[in-house]
Amino acid sequence: MAQLKLRNVYKRYDNAEKSFFRFRKAALNDFAVKDLSFDCADGEFVGILGPSGCGKTTTLRMIAGLEEITAGDIFIGDRRINDLLPKDRNIGLAFEDYALYPPLTVYENLAFNMRAKRKTAAEIKKAIDYVAPLLKVENLLEMKPPALSGGQKQRVNIARAIVRHPGLLLLDEPLSHLDGKMRQQLRHEIKRMHHEIKCTTIIVTHDQLEAMSLADRIVIMKDGELQQMGTPLEVYDNPVNEFVAGFIGEPPMNLLSSVIEKGDGVFFFTFPDSDLRVEVPERYRRQVEDKQKVTLGVRPVDVTVAARETRGSFVPIAIYENLGDERRISVRVGSNLLNMATSDDLWYEKDQKVQLEFKAERTHLFDPETGNRIQ
Ligand code: ATP
Repeated sequence: MAQLKLRNVYKRYDNAEKSFFRFRKAALNDFAVKDLSFDCADGEFVGILGPSGCGKTTTLRMIAGLEEITAGDIFIGDRRINDLLPKDRNIGLAFEDYALYPPLTVYENLAFNMRAKRKTAAEIKKAIDYVAPLLKVENLLEMKPPALSGGQKQRVNIARAIVRHPGLLLLDEPLSHLDGKMRQQLRHEIKRMHHEIKCTTIIVTHDQLEAMSLADRIVIMKDGELQQMGTPLEVYDNPVNEFVAGFIGEPPMNLLSSVIEKGDGVFFFTFPDSDLRVEVPERYRRQVEDKQKVTLGVRPVDVTVAARETRGSFVPIAIYENLGDERRISVRVGSNLLNMATSDDLWYEKDQKVQLEFKAERTHLFDPETGNRIQ
């Protein structure tokens, strides 16, 4: 097991000239990863999550030693590993493409690296006997990779990564080639395997469900920068900025431009070109002032059609969708749509006017200039 620390890590590709002057001068946009710092505790499962091109794989490859670091430090335990060869980092790697040796049996694929390390046949057998059932590959050991399904190949790939008891297990989009059901199955198995071996693990994914369900904590990146690191619940309940708020959660959080108005001593959120007024929750009263522009965030499950008439204004239904176990309702708020997700069985017609009820304590406020959360 191992603790991992990244400290102010930068990566710029094509960095032939790396003098300090060039480094300072180069626009930060040139960097695939910028000033990235985070820690993984011993045995922790961390997910790196973010949109395509945000620097997830680059980060993983720097940890693995497959990519040079432009600036910053990476530590495993107390050891700075910047200049350590990949083979000396005690890391298990499983990437999206399986890279198994086709002419070798699954057993030989699993044994390959241990043979290179001159382990005895008995040691190799013991390690494979332990790992194969964890990934459910014990019945595949005599088969060769071309005969395996995508899910089976990925199981073998992960088994190969953990068979040598690495200090750190790095998984790069291991489920992305698999279909829905297979993905879910393997996700459960990865989780079970982690409970069993408790190896510090990092998974890179752009699938929030994968990150939320597998990881103890999630690192959310955008444009090479860390946006937030926290438990799945923390990033869902307390997103630090508009990006995280909009990225985590399905369907995504509504983010509405709003102006605060004060009337009769009460603050309201108002919305351009709409009569909708929503009372500002108690906990924000000290943070807002009359005429202030804010972005109001509310998840589709935290706003509902009012069951009985309220003092609030009416808004028209724009879209009503019945998805079986859930209904999606969108109402027009000025030029924006506000989406709701509900399990109630009522049927709504387009343009029907309804009143809304917000779960006030579940709303989020962001500064429209910076996108940062207003505390
Ligand atoms: P995806 O989810 O699509 O795999 P990612 O978040 O893993 O994306 P990276 O692959 O780390 O992102 O890429 C980050 C940035 O670095 C991107 O702008 C990408 O084009 C660039 N990049 C990645 N690899 C190289 C390379 N070998 N040479 C030059 N630029 C690269």
